[in-house]
Amino acid sequence: MTTKRAWLLLAVAALTSLSMSVQTQEARYPMTIIAPGKGPFSFPPGYQTPWDKIDIMVTEKMSPNLFVLHGSQGLDPAHPDASGGRAMVLFGPDGVLMVDTQNRQVADKTLKAIRSFTDAPIKVLVNTHIHGDHTGANAFFAKQGALIFSQENLRNEMVRPPVRAGGQPAPTIDLTGVPVVTYNYTAGAPGQPAATFTMNGEIVDFIPMMPSHTAGDTIVRFRKANVIYIEDFYRNFGYPFADQANGGSIKGMLDAVDLIEKLADAGTTLVPGHGTLVKKEDLLPYRAMLVDILAKVKTLRDQGKSLKEVLAANLTAPYDKTTLGDTQQSKDRFITEAYDEVKDFPPIVDGKRTMPVHP
Ligand SMILES: [Zn+2]
Repeated sequence: MTTKRAWLLLAVAALTSLSMSVQTQEARYPMTIIAPGKGPFSFPPGYQTPWDKIDIMVTEKMSPNLFVLHGSQGLDPAHPDASGGRAMVLFGPDGVLMVDTQNRQVADKTLKAIRSFTDAPIKVLVNTHIHGDHTGANAFFAKQGALIFSQENLRNEMVRPPVRAGGQPAPTIDLTGVPVVTYNYTAGAPGQPAATFTMNGEIVDFIPMMPSHTAGDTIVRFRKANVIYIEDFYRNFGYPFADQANGGSIKGMLDAVDLIEKLADAGTTLVPGHGTLVKKEDLLPYRAMLVDILAKVKTLRDQGKSLKEVLAANLTAPYDKTTLGDTQQSKDRFITEAYDEVKDFPPIVDGKRTMPVHP
């Protein structure tokens, strides 16, 4: 072999291995395609969400046929880092399985985003919790053919919504978007799937949760991709939100974190409804903050302090620097939840609690 030919062969070999390594890199999941915004975001008084400007996009790919959809940043004051709540789509020859449906106002854009990568029929939909950024387009996707699954409590919350803060009645709902297949959380068997789907080469577990973000939460585990959609009992944009009127509880969110510590391994990708993707170790500082705030609020309330006084104590101050989206509203809501929970916490009836109204 001439030296020239040997060099040529070496060069070809090097190029081949380069292109192979590029391909391997491309195939490494999960992939973040569009990260949520970090802010800070601000909106003028009276600002209304311009739904026509919001796009629903593939923001993460968890495997070749398991994608995540999320909205644009900087437009939706309820979720400025990325509009709405994440939706997940498992697709292939067995049809589409969806986790949550995004806001009602962008239903057609959510479908369009799905149709950008699959023509398969929409078959199964699971709701992780009742909030409109997760169930808003239920009726739209039911009309596309989706059979909707959820906890029975979620269905109850939807059919008989709690009175909102200030005593205003909840808006009427479209009954075609109500879940038709329901199941319950079993206190004696946390982590036990209520349903398991074998579809499109993946095994998917719907796991009902203890009352935590709401009383009707479900997490969704994709066994092969090693991914769990953990919805909203954990968040890393804004302070924690236990929707107590819909049966949520901060103490339940601690139990939810502890269950994830058991269900996930170090490599499991956890997909929260908002903020960035995390691993289970990222949940621990969040858990510690919940414990700390509950204890501090309890001490003040036991001393007879009013809610106003507890809010004025600015107990979240040590966490403000490391909490993205730490608005005053988000802090006050969190502290008010803790205040309501540490004493005379109302019980759950039909998935809901009658919470005290603060002046
Ligand atoms: Zn959400």
